[in-house]
Amino acid sequence: MNAQKEKRGIDRPVVLATRNRGKIREFRDLFQGSGIQLKGLDDFGPIPPVVEDGLTFEDNAVKKARFTARVLGLPAIGDDSGLTVKALGGEPGVFSSRYAGEEATDEENNIKLLRAMEGIVKRDAAFVCVLAIAVPRGPALIYEGSCEGLIIGEMQGSGGFGYDPLFYYPPLDKTFAQMSGDEKNRVSHRGKAMAELKGEMDKVLTWLQQRLAEEPF
Ligand code: IMP
Repeated sequence: MNAQKEKRGIDRPVVLATRNRGKIREFRDLFQGSGIQLKGLDDFGPIPPVVEDGLTFEDNAVKKARFTARVLGLPAIGDDSGLTVKALGGEPGVFSSRYAGEEATDEENNIKLLRAMEGIVKRDAAFVCVLAIAVPRGPALIYEGSCEGLIIGEMQGSGGFGYDPLFYYPPLDKTFAQMSGDEKNRVSHRGKAMAELKGEMDKVLTWLQQRLAEEPF
């Protein structure tokens, strides 16, 4: 038995840079058995919000992770995701949640997308998700997942959220909104990014242990 293998985990919690309980639950499942204790932002007092003004998903994910790590003095995970549509030059991209305006609802965003796609024949699109793990100082680890599909001409299905009713996934002949949660997780951008991170959990732990050894608790 490798003695080093037995020493799993790290000496402090990792913060997930979100207040979304659904996301926190998914990440807790992912880190189950890793020896890492995961906390959400709600486990701490009020901290200023991160300005998501990056030009890429990676910029924003790193920003969220790094800002949270610095403010709380703990390692942190940030995520960013969205929809990119080829015929629209990558839009809505990093503006996915506010495509139809700062406070836009999912329905308003979907209606704006449908209008933008009127008359367009090539309807290829992809969902992208980037996860970043950062310590208070120094570099970040990046994991990315994407899922390709087509933007259909009318909303189909009632599950999921965001652009799911317009995102048709040919291999399953369904939109994301017509899939069960498990079905979506197996093929989605977020599911793939998480699977990539999970596949490298030992490497993540070693990386965190090494980086944190340089930073006093
Ligand atoms: P965030 O990563 O939680 O900031 O999500 C950004 C936005 O991208 C969401 O508000 C949705 O509009 C869109 N989005 C991200 N992931 C999905 C998904 O799995 N289905 C549908 N829309 C998504």
